[in-house]
Amino acid sequence: MDYQFRFPGGLKKAVTFSYDDGTECDRRLVDLFDRYHLKGTFHLNTGKFGTSNPCEDYILADEVETLYEGHEVSCHGFHHPFFSHLTKGQMLTELLEDKRALERLCHYPVRGMSYPFGEFFQEMIDVAKVVGLEYSRTVEDTMNFNLPTDFMRWHPTCHHNKVFSMLDDFVKAPEWRSLSLFYIWGHSFEFERENTWDMIEEFCKRISSYDDIWFATNIEIKDYLVAARNLISNADEDILYNPSALSVSIEYKGEIKEIKAGEFFRL
Ligand SMILES: [Zn+2]
Repeated sequence: MDYQFRFPGGLKKAVTFSYDDGTECDRRLVDLFDRYHLKGTFHLNTGKFGTSNPCEDYILADEVETLYEGHEVSCHGFHHPFFSHLTKGQMLTELLEDKRALERLCHYPVRGMSYPFGEFFQEMIDVAKVVGLEYSRTVEDTMNFNLPTDFMRWHPTCHHNKVFSMLDDFVKAPEWRSLSLFYIWGHSFEFERENTWDMIEEFCKRISSYDDIWFATNIEIKDYLVAARNLISNADEDILYNPSALSVSIEYKGEIKEIKAGEFFRL
């Protein structure tokens, strides 16, 4: 096999951010991402919109579409419950109603989620899939840059408090590491609570200064990996067929080639 798939544009590195709960601090974080041309996914609890508690104020329903424009909106359970405390019927309602309400606000299919309180188990995963959710992020830091193999148990690289310990290894990737995904997660209210806005801004500034990184939302990463893994080749491996709706980049004998959607490509 002389070819290997690459990220779009022939790149070998990708970065994605994943933020939970939809509190008012998301406004400042989205602004930061936009300033540095980064992409994030925001996992929201529709049932909390417009409410507040002693710790957090939540965003308003009518700002969802404009606030997160250019980023991805994703589910996090309607009321942010402990799913281990729910019946199967309640799990279904929590996910379906969150998805439905978000879609009515954003006007596109909402396809991802992150697990409230980091809880996940097979029954919950089964319900999420029935509802039409295609991936879900855990809070189990891998501290590596490996690509996900099970999108319903998508383990991130690390929480944002550990990003600087991973940065050098990521940007100076050794030659043996073919593709690297740096997946960062957290809550925007943590920057306010822990007074770490300067830290995340410094990270955004540094990571955005590299031109060999693809910045994408969680679902963009998922869609691309599915398209790349679904390339079809003949037995001689000199013809590749891309049955997906996305172009896929490959490296072949030191050259980057782009296999367009629906294309039969002769190597
Ligand atoms: Zn949460």
